[in-house]
Amino acid sequence: MIRYFFIFLIFFNYAHASDVLNITFLGTGTPRPNIEKLGPSLLIKHKNYESLIDVGRGTTLRLNQIGNDFSKINEIYLSHFHFDHTIGLPDLWLTSNLWQKKTNTFVFGPAGVKKFCNNIYEAYKLDLKYRLKEKSYSKLVCFNFDNYEDNKAKSSVNISSFKNNHGHVDNSYGFRISFQDKKIVYSGDTSVSENVLSNAKDADILIHEVIAMSDKIYEKNKKLRDVAATHTTVKQLISILKKTKPKLTILNHALLFGVSEKSVLEKIKKDYKGEVIFSYDLMSLDVGKEINIFNLGITNGK
Ligand SMILES: [Zn+2]
Ligand SMILES: [Zn+2]
Repeated sequence: MIRYFFIFLIFFNYAHASDVLNITFLGTGTPRPNIEKLGPSLLIKHKNYESLIDVGRGTTLRLNQIGNDFSKINEIYLSHFHFDHTIGLPDLWLTSNLWQKKTNTFVFGPAGVKKFCNNIYEAYKLDLKYRLKEKSYSKLVCFNFDNYEDNKAKSSVNISSFKNNHGHVDNSYGFRISFQDKKIVYSGDTSVSENVLSNAKDADILIHEVIAMSDKIYEKNKKLRDVAATHTTVKQLISILKKTKPKLTILNHALLFGVSEKSVLEKIKKDYKGEVIFSYDLMSLDVGKEINIFNLGITNGK
């Protein structure tokens, strides 16, 4: 059963039952700057376990907005190296050090992630030197998906990666989050992908990207047609949903050009009867026996 609670909390102190997994959409946007939809990032919480999937623009601001002091976020999963999914990482890392984070942050990502992390360190090492004593800072410890299993925290939340199909991006991944008997799948940026299909089959929640544009824009704009080939169109999405039948589908990272969320939902609902909604920044889900949806934000979520 899915229940919706519409709670607007500016300052909140939110206690979670121990048998509930909490997922908060910190950002639901795309590379396009939009103050109401910051860059993609999901916060996954269970008891003292906290991790992030992707760290887009403004992740640190959203965490601050919900009263998270970054100290427990010890794992970060990066889906791919498009900047909209990673540009918030240096901000989060440096700010957590300013807040005196004691533990290192493990970053799991596609091949090349070690170099990526090292380059972030090189770019900001002077700042660390100015502000902090040599040995006292929280480091980014990075592993690629080939050898990350041994380095994950032992937790009742298991996050595993699978390759998706993001066009020109060689190494792009989606994630499967397992918690008790629940399965939540995050598609990442992808067009139709066999791995998304197999992982999302009968999922409790499928968080899937989508691209949609008006016919006029589609005809006139070759660049956008090329972009669409690396993402999932509404027609493709309907076919994916019919095959996988998730209990709840949350459309995320929506690239909409000349069309509204409402019109996209109407189109889907003509052909697919399952539950489908759009994400919004600071939408939060408690996943337990039931799935409860809250709005933790002061943005214009629904
Ligand atoms: Zn993206
Ligand atoms: Zn991408």
